Amino acid sequence: MPERVRLHISGIVQGVGFRPALHRLAQAYALTGWCRNTVDGVELEAQGEGETLARLPRLIVEHAPPLSRIDHIRMDTVPPQQGERGFSILPSPPPGQGRALVSPDTATCALCRQELFDPKDRRFRHPFINCTDCGPRFTILRRLPYDRDNTAMSAFPMCPRCDREYHHIASRRYHAQPNCCPDCGPVLRFWDRTGEPPGEPIANAVRLLQQGGIVAVKGLGGYHLACRADAPESVAELRRRKRRDERPFALMCRDAPQAAELCYVNEQERRALESPAAPIVLLKKRPDCPEHLSETGELGILLPYTPVHHLLLREVSPLVMTSMNRSDRPVVCRTEDEGWKELADGLLKHDREIVNRCDDSLLRLFRGEPLFFRRSRGYAPATVALHRDCTGVLALGAEQKGGFAFVRGREAFLSQHIGDLKDYETEEFYVHQIDRFQHAFDLPVRLLVCDLHPDYRSTAYARERSRREGLPLIQAQHHHAHMASCMADNGLQGQCIGLVWDGTGYGTDATIWGAECLAGDYAGVKRLGSIQPIPLPGGDRCALEIGRTAHALLTLAKRQQDSRHPQGAMLSRMIASGTNAPRSSGMGRLFDGVYALLTGRQRVSYEGQGAVLLEAMAAQDVKGGYPLSFFQRGDCLTLDTGALVNALLEDGRENPVRAARFMNTLSALALAHAEYARQCTGLNRVVLSGGVFHNDYLLSRTVDTLTQGGFVPYVHRRVSPGDQGIPLGQVFIGAAQGG
Ligand code: ZN
Ligand code: ZN
Ligand code: FE
Repeated sequence: MPERVRLHISGIVQGVGFRPALHRLAQAYALTGWCRNTVDGVELEAQGEGETLARLPRLIVEHAPPLSRIDHIRMDTVPPQQGERGFSILPSPPPGQGRALVSPDTATCALCRQELFDPKDRRFRHPFINCTDCGPRFTILRRLPYDRDNTAMSAFPMCPRCDREYHHIASRRYHAQPNCCPDCGPVLRFWDRTGEPPGEPIANAVRLLQQGGIVAVKGLGGYHLACRADAPESVAELRRRKRRDERPFALMCRDAPQAAELCYVNEQERRALESPAAPIVLLKKRPDCPEHLSETGELGILLPYTPVHHLLLREVSPLVMTSMNRSDRPVVCRTEDEGWKELADGLLKHDREIVNRCDDSLLRLFRGEPLFFRRSRGYAPATVALHRDCTGVLALGAEQKGGFAFVRGREAFLSQHIGDLKDYETEEFYVHQIDRFQHAFDLPVRLLVCDLHPDYRSTAYARERSRREGLPLIQAQHHHAHMASCMADNGLQGQCIGLVWDGTGYGTDATIWGAECLAGDYAGVKRLGSIQPIPLPGGDRCALEIGRTAHALLTLAKRQQDSRHPQGAMLSRMIASGTNAPRSSGMGRLFDGVYALLTGRQRVSYEGQGAVLLEAMAAQDVKGGYPLSFFQRGDCLTLDTGALVNALLEDGRENPVRAARFMNTLSALALAHAEYARQCTGLNRVVLSGGVFHNDYLLSRTVDTLTQGGFVPYVHRRVSPGDQGIPLGQVFIGAAQGG
């Protein structure tokens, strides 16, 4: 007597070949029944021998396709059906009610790469080859469920051969929504400054690159500017045209062995490079790595992740691959208006619409685990699992690294990298993406959480929406949100110590904070430690004009006569009178100022550059630091910043040694703050958050120092320690304070 079960499977189970896998499984185990996408997962009814059915959940997990992620399987027994034959895949429910999770965009898989370069294959050199296991997903998605009609591929009806593959269970392209071929898919075209030359677009682009030209390449989530990495003049020209920036460029290498010629690549780093997400991985440079690529000790490298990349890189590699945006804006998508000619000598473009713009993700491996700088393409919109249900919270993030998070159940839907909301277009993109997430994924909103800063654009959005929709609004203090983010990232409940070091955040006393020792939980924290605030003459100008910060540090050290700043007298007056000289305890500013003091440099070209260069400058094997002295201000143990600066200036050693000793001193500060907080509270767990902990030297020494001090330190794993990670913390603060 056959038995019958009904299973409900949730997780990333749509658009990853899940139903075909179930179909194959049913055939292999002689089961009849059906499966279908539902609004929140996949449903399966299977009939067969009781013994097989009992093993079914385990079999499903074992045979799940590579891009899927099963979060939960529920199985119920149902009455068997008479006379059922075979197994079928039933149609999806109507659009607009999607609740299932969607896979992020996925790098071209090994089998597709083989076909791409196989002259006998009908997709030989087809720039849009993909299959059930790889290809565009989030960047082409308009709404759920994930079916071709709901993607940018709806503009490309399948030819009969593709259609057969799509419907054939044994095909690698069974139900692959972006499936296409040269007969029916998008078209790639190439233009140079004079027009559209004859010949194959890829070959034309390759020729221009080989000659040292700069080519704009339309990719998955936006445009790149590409040029030969081994041609210093081309790279210099690219920097000149992007009109800023000494920011390191990312490099695309043909494969991991080529990356290993430039940088050290360990096993975990190689795996990250070759992963389906294909992020930019920060790697330590080899001594002979060319100087013009990055001024720090590291280089960001990524591997080809679209067929177009593979076709290009096979001919010319490595390439500089930098996003086409000029400042910290989202990737530019519009090129109709010839504007590309200001930046590029050629344009390689296809006619598949980019629905969701998405930058390359950027991470470093910290002790084998990812530490995100930017969690974007390849990760969004994969959800982050939460340790408790926070349904209906919408967290709106901070400002400079804008982003947001929705929650349904125990899944947080985190936005891709958005950029600096002070830029008007970026703010529009932010609002648009909030809307798209909410509607595409059918996400509930009952509570809004934003930053405490009254002037952030995200705060303005939250206030306006709260008023318009009558939703409760909670404002979470910036560093509390950082701390909560790291707690949630690690699934921590209860009380913790938080060391949160970043550039700037609005404090509860309306001054700028950023080197905070906090203790508490999601509901609230006490501030137990900080550093003596630095007066910043000119306010935000200090972010780039680090000579001003150096002058302020000399003032704190009562040595302003040593200042080399040309307007030293004016800066001193501003500081003395407090006019336009807001006080900041931001650790980022202390780094800037110390870098400026050590080097005499007055300006940097992007915010945080001083900190990056200070880290790059530091000698690796230096022990010890400078003495710490504190003031007690109420409960708050406050570092005497001026004394630290004096010790640094009186140290006659070379800069690499002083830079290392400065950072060693900060690790000792972390320990001193944690010990004081433990004395006050009895707590032992320490979460480390804030953008300053992107600094590998500092993070690694701080983790070790805390561990030796008997603490249990936690670092970020799934979201960035920087402000892109803020929404996750805001979610939990909102849930704790707002119910
Ligand atoms: Zn594939
Ligand atoms: Zn076709
Ligand atoms: Fe921050």
